[in-house]
Amino acid sequence: MFENIGGKIKVLGKVMCVIGVIASVIYGIILLKINVLTCIIVIISGSLLSWVGSFFTVGFGELISNSEKEINLLEVIKRNSAYRTFYYIKKDSTHLFRCDKCDSMIDEYPCKVCGYPEKSEE
Ligand SMILES: [Zn+2]
Repeated sequence: MFENIGGKIKVLGKVMCVIGVIASVIYGIILLKINVLTCIIVIISGSLLSWVGSFFTVGFGELISNSEKEINLLEVIKRNSAYRTFYYIKKDSTHLFRCDKCDSMIDEYPCKVCGYPEKSEE
């Protein structure tokens, strides 16, 4: 019901545009009894306003659906990078990181430089 909100807003914008154009044409035809110029002005300006007005609704929907896509993409990137880090630590024992205590580059705890973490030090 509330999935793909961006797509639904876009459809709503397009439907409102079509309804606006149809309403303008109907109103224009009604005004044909008064004079032809008023009829043409109402049909053209009403249709134009409906079309331009739909830009905002459709644009907003586009914004939301792009944002949904970006969140999904970020989730995939996050998952991939987490996997890659895990893979390197497991497979490659020369993967280096900084010791929490002495800041030396080491590949495993306890640190070969300062011996951190060791129970005797605490
Ligand atoms: Zn250390």
